[in-house]
Amino acid sequence: MHIGTPLSRTATRVMLLGAGELGKEVIIALQRLGVEVIAVDRYDGAPGHQVAHRAQTIDMTDGNVLARLIDSEKPAIVVPEIEAIATETLVALERAGLCRVIPSARAANLTMNREGIRRLAAEELKLPTSRYAFADSLASLRAAVEGPEGIGFPCIIKPVMSSSGKGQSRVEGPDDLGTAWDYANAGGRVNKGRVIVEGFVDFEYEITLLTVRAYAASGEVETHFCAPIGHIQVKGDYVESWQPQAMRPEALKRAQAIAKAVTDNLGGVGLYGVECFVKGDEVWFSEVSPRPHDTGMVTMISQKQSEFELHARAILGLPVDVSLRSPGASAVIYGGIDATGVRFEGVDAALRIPGTDLRLFGKPVSYTNRRMGVALAEGEDTDQARQRAKLAAALVRPGV
Ligand code: AMP
Repeated sequence: MHIGTPLSRTATRVMLLGAGELGKEVIIALQRLGVEVIAVDRYDGAPGHQVAHRAQTIDMTDGNVLARLIDSEKPAIVVPEIEAIATETLVALERAGLCRVIPSARAANLTMNREGIRRLAAEELKLPTSRYAFADSLASLRAAVEGPEGIGFPCIIKPVMSSSGKGQSRVEGPDDLGTAWDYANAGGRVNKGRVIVEGFVDFEYEITLLTVRAYAASGEVETHFCAPIGHIQVKGDYVESWQPQAMRPEALKRAQAIAKAVTDNLGGVGLYGVECFVKGDEVWFSEVSPRPHDTGMVTMISQKQSEFELHARAILGLPVDVSLRSPGASAVIYGGIDATGVRFEGVDAALRIPGTDLRLFGKPVSYTNRRMGVALAEGEDTDQARQRAKLAAALVRPGV
């Protein structure tokens, strides 16, 4: 693919569907390569809107509105950066040859629903996963958990249409099933009244294996694995990550085989975030994002090319380099308050810690639990990097 000149008749035009902190970094990576970028989000002033050639605000779950915007902007490539999109419309547009979807419209469509990807991984590809069942009512949920051959306790209940721990709860016993059912139905992206119940996996640690599908000089698609990223989740939301996560060779081999099987099936080009649980040599597939992953923000300090640069390069058919630069870590900076137009205190103190860097996302509104920025740190090892990143994150305080 030739890269043209932005804002001219030769422009290579890419549309990002979702312009949060991850989209913003993909946009910056594309801009650096001379791509014309249109950032789309559901609200004005989203992080990616602030750095794109054009900003558009629409309801991306409305297929007609989405199709009209794609028709008027005519991007060569459409890059979904969030899950809440009318992915069936993307499937139809891709099939009609009207745009190319990254990594593919099918990948975006399958992974937006936990049921699609779980059935593919466990039933079609026969990969190890937690035990699971789906339920459409409290009665069927009870049967799935408590019935003969049921999932049992503890278990995890999640809306099928949700991410980042929204609507998700861990259930210890029969008395809590009703609360978990109500919580899942309130927390789902679209109230579809359907949940997945998963057996609790008593893992030692969990990883994100960033997996890049990119064209080699031969014209074939090649798979590249980044070093595994370890992370800590609280209530299903990531708070800290580091790279590399030390793994036993057999566990790493299994994780890579799982990632290869899933991404080969989903196809296309671009970067995937494959999430796995690990205990000893045992590895379970958990989830996959067909796009950069929030735990992968650490790569902005730990890799030669960040996950965002890797995604941008793979999308454009360019070569990628997944090598590590230094052990690194990331720690999330939360809003801590509900306010508009916050001011960040402690930025100077945070950046005085050796080996640290920051990303402040520029979100117009802060909520207590909203991710407003991330602290990054390199170190001699991941322990030192984690310490530095956590310290830096704690020093940055949003205020009014
Ligand atoms: P998810 O939204 O599915 O990525 O889940 C968010 C986080 O919840 C994971 O990263 C795990 O820390 C935890 N979790 C989810 N499912 C399970 C499970 N079946 N067993 C144990 N922990 C889980």
